[in-house]
Amino acid sequence: MSVEAIILASGTGKRMNSDKPKQYIDIQGKPLLYYTIKQFDNELIEGIVLVVGENDIEYCKSEIVEKYGLNKVKCIVAGGKERYNSVYNGLKYIDADYVMIHDGARPFISAVTIDKVYKELQNNDACIVGVKAKDTVKIADDEGMVSSTPDRSYVWQVQTPQAFKTEKIKIAYEKAFSQDMKGITDDAMVWEKCINEPVKLVEGEYTNIKITTPEDLIIANAYVDMYFKKQENNDK
Ligand code: C5P
Repeated sequence: MSVEAIILASGTGKRMNSDKPKQYIDIQGKPLLYYTIKQFDNELIEGIVLVVGENDIEYCKSEIVEKYGLNKVKCIVAGGKERYNSVYNGLKYIDADYVMIHDGARPFISAVTIDKVYKELQNNDACIVGVKAKDTVKIADDEGMVSSTPDRSYVWQVQTPQAFKTEKIKIAYEKAFSQDMKGITDDAMVWEKCINEPVKLVEGEYTNIKITTPEDLIIANAYVDMYFKKQENNDK
């Protein structure tokens, strides 16, 4: 069973209020995107398709991929206007049986979770990582009033990676693009819309946050201390 990954880093990260896109922000001497790619530089993953802004391809090649010897990256391609356009562009370069699609802004995905997803792919063609909601969730109406409260034991907050049988997710994206893509915020939604087959939830970790707003950088610095420094020391 062959698996490749798409790492998405073509967003502009407006909510970070920073002069550079959040994926290139320096965290303890290295760009945030380095940490994400490093986690997929894993024996289960045969290759990585890195999707970045058209003007950042050269920078990513020399300052991240080559500089840190991230040899699993097999190509760096330009993303699109919305996240789903970037995924679609990346999918064209995937040759493996299965693909894990991951947000470049989630550098703290663990090897344990990647391994869990890999194992679940042996029995499921669609697997997505998530965590059980800690908070009660309310569904609102247009006036900002509560319209319902789902049973929390069934509520999951989903993250990435989201992994799929390649030939089927490619078909799903082709079909979805011939319809209305409005409101599509993750890959499983494309699958749910276009492929009538189940999606397995894989329990991940609360630490797999998406770096989005400035306060997330405080947490990111602490996690780098906790995870990567320990890992680097073990590698020495
Ligand atoms: O915008 P959001 O935080 O949901 O983006 C999730 C991931 O998708 C980020 O890593 C971002 O760089 C990527 N993205 C992309 N192309 C876009 C928008 C977002 O690759 N057009």
